[in-house]
Amino acid sequence: MQNVTINGDRLWDSLMEMAKIGATPKGGVCRLALTDLDKEGRDLFVSWCEEAGCSVSVDKMGNIFARRAGTDDSLPPVVMGSHLDTQPTGGKFDGIYGVLCGLEVIRTLNDHNIQTKHAIEASVWTNEEGSRFPPAMVASGVFAGVFDLEYGLSRADLDGLTMGEELERIGYNGALEVGNRAFKAFFEAHIEQGPILENEQKTIGVVTDAQGQRWYEVTLTGQEAHAGPTPMTTRKDALVGAARIIDQVNKIGLENGPLACSTVGLLQVFPNSRNVIPGQVFFSIDFRHPQDATLSLMDSTLREFCDAVSAELGLEMDFKEIWYSPPVPFNQGCVDSVREAAAASGYSHRDIVSGAGHDACYISRVAPTAMVFVPCENGISHNEAENAEPADLEAGCNVLIQAVLLQANE
Ligand SMILES: [Zn+2]
Repeated sequence: MQNVTINGDRLWDSLMEMAKIGATPKGGVCRLALTDLDKEGRDLFVSWCEEAGCSVSVDKMGNIFARRAGTDDSLPPVVMGSHLDTQPTGGKFDGIYGVLCGLEVIRTLNDHNIQTKHAIEASVWTNEEGSRFPPAMVASGVFAGVFDLEYGLSRADLDGLTMGEELERIGYNGALEVGNRAFKAFFEAHIEQGPILENEQKTIGVVTDAQGQRWYEVTLTGQEAHAGPTPMTTRKDALVGAARIIDQVNKIGLENGPLACSTVGLLQVFPNSRNVIPGQVFFSIDFRHPQDATLSLMDSTLREFCDAVSAELGLEMDFKEIWYSPPVPFNQGCVDSVREAAAASGYSHRDIVSGAGHDACYISRVAPTAMVFVPCENGISHNEAENAEPADLEAGCNVLIQAVLLQANE
């Protein structure tokens, strides 16, 4: 491993400079995708990349790639990056940290005159948050072939303005085709957005997987009846059925722990009157696990239990799975590079699973991919109070540069 470290002060200064664009009174950032502020942030990033000697290209979804040439430019590049957009009440680090880490790696390679065999690129992925233009991660999704270009460009905000129109307005409707490009590897550095690293006092999360998700909607229908005259033995109480299922959902999560998550977060009771036996209940179920086999087992356990409960209580059941997002196992070679880099740099680290979606999840479908997590204060993000320690941010970028060098010289 080469003895090179990034400039933590420069990384921090760049983060703080960027955080002025869309700064909110409470210390957060509001930089929604393809607004004038997003354009300002993009322009600043591009100017920094050009100052660092990169050639910058933009694709038709507005994704930006800043390239530092390698010694053999026929080889696919090692790409780093994340997103520049934020939630309406977002913070200073979510997304932009991974973008500016990419730039800092390039600046550091320049400082030390380090040549790499593969070119190195810092990238920005448009509209990762999906806050202005749902769904989330739409531009990395188009790049990975999950969505087609027409779909991506036609996503509209609440005023009916499309991504295509807004990309054109701010001048980031690039000429480059989206996707169909080989990457040697893709790395995304990101704040954890959860409390595990901070609680365990670990500096680096080596992200091995992103969780798969199964979302359901269930409606149980029984019979409304008077809470006084109706004997217990003849009731068809939809809420009793829901209660048993909710308890089972919780058990399924615990039984498949520690990596499973299972949640009922939405419940509607009809008619919701204190002296009426509930005739109908509607509720949601959210299952998450990093391994598909376990997620399938959770699914079949749930379905069997729901069938049995509704039969026993004489309830009609409408059971729908409304979303399935498969787990993302990151690339073994790239994950190993991150782990080796963390160990060689002397940082405390642990393997970790991402509970949230990231551009890296889609890019992993078309390129060997891994992520580097750093702690954030109290695990809070998507919040103006989002905060991270300069030393941790510096550590994450040091791990990134080493992982990139491992891949770029292979
Ligand atoms: Zn993010």
